[in-house]
Amino acid sequence: DYQAVVVEDIDLRNLAQCLHLGKKLHDNGFGLFRTMLKYKCERKGKYYIVADKYFASSKICNCCGHKKDKLTLSERIYRCTECGTKTDRDYNAALNLKQYGTHVLKEMGVLSA
Ligand SMILES: [Zn+2]
Repeated sequence: DYQAVVVEDIDLRNLAQCLHLGKKLHDNGFGLFRTMLKYKCERKGKYYIVADKYFASSKICNCCGHKKDKLTLSERIYRCTECGTKTDRDYNAALNLKQYGTHVLKEMGVLSA
């Protein structure tokens, strides 16, 4: 069971350039996917939360909150220099987005603080 889906506010054109995909992300309907996801969430009475585009989901350590200055796309393992946490980069980012969404739902009074 879930109450919300949290997504990043990613500039798809930037992402396509960074990954050297040209227009492929648009061609593959990535933007359409987000539109459909939002629609499905609303239809089922779930919250669709878009994290602020300046929220550094990948650079923040989910364990201690330390934020890295730099993190290259090739670094697939997140290694925290402060607390020593070593975890999958995307898993770490997903945990941060979950935390972000939980905070938003608490602010809205949907979840108790
Ligand atoms: Zn840490």
